[in-house]
Amino acid sequence: MSGVAGPLVLVGPSGAGKTTVANELVSAHPDRFVPSVSVTTRRPRDGERHGRDYLFVSRAEFDEMIRGGRLAEWAEVHGERYGTPADNLREESGDGPVPVLDIDVLGAGRILKRGTGALVIFILPPGPAEWIGRLAGRGTESPREIARRLRTALGELRAVPLFERFVVNAELDRTVRRVLAHWAGEPGGGASASEVAARCRRLEDGARSEIARLEETEDPTTTNAERAPRERE
Ligand code: ADP
Ligand code: 5GP
Repeated sequence: MSGVAGPLVLVGPSGAGKTTVANELVSAHPDRFVPSVSVTTRRPRDGERHGRDYLFVSRAEFDEMIRGGRLAEWAEVHGERYGTPADNLREESGDGPVPVLDIDVLGAGRILKRGTGALVIFILPPGPAEWIGRLAGRGTESPREIARRLRTALGELRAVPLFERFVVNAELDRTVRRVLAHWAGEPGGGASASEVAARCRRLEDGARSEIARLEETEDPTTTNAERAPRERE
């Protein structure tokens, strides 16, 4: 039994595995956790479903939700808007399941300020190679989009000192056990501050090299098209 009133908030850079961990928590422990489905203006990826993965709305609909006070928090991430419907955080009485939020660091700060008794856990990828492999392996983003996400991720990693609880997502089962240990208030669930700082430096170095590589190899078609007229002169 947790001493936390909820919700459980997972933050961390894109590709760290927040969505995967949140889904696993909900499917393995439906008595303890429910998903918090966010609203977004971004387009659905292949396989994503309205109402299950996100509520996909237009910019006008999103702005209307802000004006109507229907979002507990919202933020602009990777050039799109994302928000948590206030209804998702409505207090349930008794020992019912708590919502699991997978949101960006700004959103997490806003949820903490609301004083809802949230437990925030920062999910870290194990190392740059695994991280970049996961981002690319998801197969849902173009190289340009991956570079953009890595740039945003550098900002998310700089927010690490604001957080207290960390879990390195190497092997999924172990990650889930560690998140549950934090949730239960057990000691030894997470990585130490110095371990986290060293890991972040490696992740940042890896992200910078990958961004440079992606930018070098980016858009050969455009380059050829631009070159062609000059070559003809
Ligand atoms: P986020 O929500 O943080 O952006 P996702 O949950 O979408 O990240 O995960 C990014 C990719 O990494 C997905 O393809 C997912 O299947 C994979 N992944 C997540 N956790 C693990 C893990 N522990 N081991 C291997 N692959 C993982
Ligand atoms: P994705 O496009 O990969 O699904 O999500 C991009 C980023 O938006 C992730 O960092 C994710 O955590 C964040 N995000 C998703 N939903 C919300 C939300 O409701 N609020 C905020 N602030 N961020 C969100």
